[in-house]
Amino acid sequence: MHTNKRHIAILGSTGSIGTQALDVISRHTDMFEVELLTANNNAALLIEQARRFRPNNVVICNKDLYDTVNEALAKEDVKVFAGMESVNALVQGSNVDIVLASMVGFSGLEPTINAIKAGKVIALANKETLVAAGSIVTRLAREYNSPIIPVDSEHSAIFQCLQGEHTRIEKLILTASGGPFRNWSKEDIAKATRVQALNHPNWDMGAKVTIDSASMMNKGLEMIEASWLFNMSPDDIEIVVHPQSIVHSMVQFTDGCLKAQLGAPDMRVPIQYALSYPERVSLDTKRLSFAEVARLDFFAPDSTRFPAIDLAYSAHRVGGNMACIMNGANEVAVDAFLKDRILFCRIPEIIEKTMEKATFVPLPDIDDIYASHQQAKEIALSLI
Ligand code: MG
Repeated sequence: MHTNKRHIAILGSTGSIGTQALDVISRHTDMFEVELLTANNNAALLIEQARRFRPNNVVICNKDLYDTVNEALAKEDVKVFAGMESVNALVQGSNVDIVLASMVGFSGLEPTINAIKAGKVIALANKETLVAAGSIVTRLAREYNSPIIPVDSEHSAIFQCLQGEHTRIEKLILTASGGPFRNWSKEDIAKATRVQALNHPNWDMGAKVTIDSASMMNKGLEMIEASWLFNMSPDDIEIVVHPQSIVHSMVQFTDGCLKAQLGAPDMRVPIQYALSYPERVSLDTKRLSFAEVARLDFFAPDSTRFPAIDLAYSAHRVGGNMACIMNGANEVAVDAFLKDRILFCRIPEIIEKTMEKATFVPLPDIDDIYASHQQAKEIALSLI
């Protein structure tokens, strides 16, 4: 049945972005309809979401959980599938208008590419997609007329600042909260625990991105993401620490004018904007009181205490598959840290060593990207 509603596929619906997207959708049922939900392992929540939002299709990626999900939804008008191959096929379905790519890590790349090839609107929350394969993904998006709308708060801020602008951008300024270790010494950061690293001051996010925020690799990944999204050289992207997380990022134009997007830190804002774009719809997010905020602080990032930032700049400047190698090593190192297998200070060390050892490919195709990711993971694992 045809309706004017936007039909949404959410890849990673049980994660932090996915659940907040469903919260947004539940407030605008006149505008959005859920077509597809996918989850890796959280069968219980996927079942609950399917009962509430009644998508046509759900996919549980872990095939061992197929029977659980299928039996639980037997009486619902929902088709149940399992495995990544089902995600890759269903994102291309004619009922899907917008694909919210909110899977964690490199695994988001393949379904995003498939959605692009079907010309879907991509609401991109998975930054690793552009970090690992930015040249390929942006080329495919142009070729298949698939718009990429950023969901990451910084990139959404820049995207919002660029509405109505047609002139050259001089500089992008990415703001960073600085994470939980902003004021910690190098020695204390070195032996920080998992619980300390997961305690982000401003943003409520998944474990991977929260650890990346603590190491500030998140800002490095976002710099690369911004470079691809807005076609900017890394030399023209500045990172500035802004502990209040009120200014979500800024754009500087050739006349010296700056535009910034501000608001209380709430991921539902950029998620909703990506889904409702070019329209803006209401949201009950906290309103800013400038008298209450009183001051906004900005500092240069400290690359001695947070070496991940420089690793990201150098990987992106080298180009080719180097950012893919960096990202693969980071995924392994973060996972090892979350399992208490390495100290926090070893995350950037492992990344740097992996970047030195992995095979450099100057003009990678998609197979090179998959191979580089695999090789980077193996090298990083051997260093743990
Ligand atoms: Mg962000």
